[in-house]
Amino acid sequence: MATPVISKGFVDSIVKFRRNIHSRPETGFKEADTSAAILAELKTLGIPDSDIRVMAGTGIVADIRGTAAPIGSAAGSAGAAPAEGAPDGAVVIALRADMDALPMTEDTGDLPWASSRPGAAHMCGHDGHMANLLGVARLVAARRDRLPSDRVLRMLWQPAEEGPGGAAPMVAEGAMTGVAEVYGFHNWPTFPLGNAQIVAGPAMAHVTDFDVTVNGRGGHASAPHVLADPVLAASHCVVALQSIVSRCVPAADAAVVSVSTIHGGEVRNVIPSTVTFSGTIRTLSERASSIIAEKLPALVNATAAAHGCSAEVSLESLYPVLHNDPAAAEHCVRVAKATLGPDRAPSWGLPLMGGEDFGYFSAEAPGCYVFFGTAEQDRENHMLHSSHFDFNDRALPRTITFFTRLLEDRWGLAGSAASDGGGSAASAVSGSAGPLYSEEELPSFAGKGGVPPADWAPPAPSSTRTDRTEAVGSDAVAMGHA
Ligand SMILES: [Zn+2]
Ligand SMILES: [Zn+2]
Repeated sequence: MATPVISKGFVDSIVKFRRNIHSRPETGFKEADTSAAILAELKTLGIPDSDIRVMAGTGIVADIRGTAAPIGSAAGSAGAAPAEGAPDGAVVIALRADMDALPMTEDTGDLPWASSRPGAAHMCGHDGHMANLLGVARLVAARRDRLPSDRVLRMLWQPAEEGPGGAAPMVAEGAMTGVAEVYGFHNWPTFPLGNAQIVAGPAMAHVTDFDVTVNGRGGHASAPHVLADPVLAASHCVVALQSIVSRCVPAADAAVVSVSTIHGGEVRNVIPSTVTFSGTIRTLSERASSIIAEKLPALVNATAAAHGCSAEVSLESLYPVLHNDPAAAEHCVRVAKATLGPDRAPSWGLPLMGGEDFGYFSAEAPGCYVFFGTAEQDRENHMLHSSHFDFNDRALPRTITFFTRLLEDRWGLAGSAASDGGGSAASAVSGSAGPLYSEEELPSFAGKGGVPPADWAPPAPSSTRTDRTEAVGSDAVAMGHA
């Protein structure tokens, strides 16, 4: 009987990599050590230098090619078609992992692998995303001899997701050339472990940040009638902005306008000359985005003027809407149901109003961004960006199994356990190849209470925190992270 490949030793090694990265976090475009650690791992997989490209400073694009006989475009199979510009008409499927940590200080207490670098911390779990991609790469590389030579795994190791954004420069440098389909994921602490939450269409929001300066005429707080009070004007502006979503954006078009900072004044008896405030706009359509981008400055300027003040407004459009291609989302749902369980690929809780620059990749080729749940009943499920957060390593066997099966599915490797819902009916398509791993070697989590024989549970770190995330369920508030 074949041995499951996701063994304790395999997971131990992936988790060790994850925790090592976690202990040495680096923020956007400073991921030098992280990049070096990934390159060292890629070397051990036997990837030639010619298939490794450094992009966007610290990012890496690396390809794993098969060495088995080519199978052409796998006519009759459900696999992806080669994209324009693909070398030798190969079907190139890209998987993306973000690399950066947040510029914040970790507060996980006695976690042995806690950040050793004050002011940098993997509080969004990108360390886990990298560990997943390494795990998938190891499984694919180990079966190069069964992978047709016209099938390619492209790894997109991307810096600076938390800002200013590494995806756009990587696309500009050619990371997506020849890619047929692209996939990625985020771990999500309000969704249950074992779930892959997937939605077709908009999955995450367009982000536009804004800064406002309200200028008035300051002076003694006892004589406001001879002044132009920017504190009062800014206050009215903040209230006025609450009417944009409710009165200007069509009700079926989701949008958020949040004012999240406000600063002004130094002393109780002085009205200042200037008040500043800033915030963020989130939308799921370009229509809503442009309505708000037009309305916000108009409303602020008019409101400030009504109080004898003037205003300067600046808007910065950041990440675009992350749009999941309906067909790509369907592939993910099919594979998730086969690998995780028939009820493990819901769409509740989505879309999210957070931002993600994966949208730059999925604008270049059909793609889907999946949210893997990490919440467990007996674990502290701290939300992303909490200083107490740590990636849940127990998600890794699931994500690695999912993405390996997804690759087989999209490469059109007939008989893939994922493609036929776990059955074994091998396709009779001429020239087709079989899956890289049999059902015994890479067991499904489906129908086994979510715990296949090869699942391995690293010990949960001890913690006395009390601010655990509430409500793991369909009403859970899912926050975006950008
Ligand atoms: Zn993140
Ligand atoms: Zn984040």
